[in-house]
Amino acid sequence: MVGEVSRGAVTAQASGLAVEYLWSGHAGLVPLRSARDKVGMKATASVLRSIADFALPPRCPACGTITEANHRFCSPCWRQLRFLAPPWCASCGTPFEFDRGDTARCAACLADPPRHDGIFAPVAYGEVARTLALRLKYGGRMAFADTIARQMVRVIPADTDLLVPVPLHRWRIWNRGFNQAALIADALGWHRGVAVDRALLHRTRATPALRGLGRKARRKAVSGAFSLSDNAQDRLKGRSIGLVDDVYTSGATTDACVRLLKRAGASRVAILTWARVLGDAED
Ligand SMILES: [Zn+2]
Ligand SMILES: [Zn+2]
Repeated sequence: MVGEVSRGAVTAQASGLAVEYLWSGHAGLVPLRSARDKVGMKATASVLRSIADFALPPRCPACGTITEANHRFCSPCWRQLRFLAPPWCASCGTPFEFDRGDTARCAACLADPPRHDGIFAPVAYGEVARTLALRLKYGGRMAFADTIARQMVRVIPADTDLLVPVPLHRWRIWNRGFNQAALIADALGWHRGVAVDRALLHRTRATPALRGLGRKARRKAVSGAFSLSDNAQDRLKGRSIGLVDDVYTSGATTDACVRLLKRAGASRVAILTWARVLGDAED
């Protein structure tokens, strides 16, 4: 009965916000059309929170076991997550086994200094991190984006003043109905009070799966795949950008985006992701 009452409440409140939802099981509010402005996001998030609190038992976002509170992992899943912490490379955040000092860089960054201003991810890519990334990617539930953003919020550089999601090609959005990076950016923007610009960066060409390709082939595959909107320079000049994606793998995709954003005047571009693939974690 409680569930029935709350479903009515979702529809009534959501229509007032010009946001539509589908109900699809536990924590399953699926935004069809996300609010773009911050006020809308705040209202959306509070609707999500209050409805979820009211109607559903909280569940582990990775395995679905009932937990004490929303966005909390069960203890077996929590123990499997590998949280990233110093000592690490001053340029890219790759963890070091031994502390080499605050300014030490890894061999890859010394050989080829990166264009970006750091890769910030709360966890290493592993089974639990991957499960949550896949549940968001193929389930499209805002609640999963919110869980991810709550973990990412503590690793964002303090000077970040604009969040830009890595775009999907419009065919893929048409197929899937949403861009998971944009859902994360929206939730992150709401938690940190930072603006999100979904319209700045576009993917003009669908790119093939990069898995299994070498470094050069990956670069070639994404070269020319992105473009900026006409007024991008006005919006980027002197700003510190957080480029948001779900998982950081080889960096070929984000590197192509960073190059464009910097060329258009961004002063800094940090890469912000839920999980990052480390050398020993790729599957
Ligand atoms: Zn779990
Ligand atoms: Zn490095």
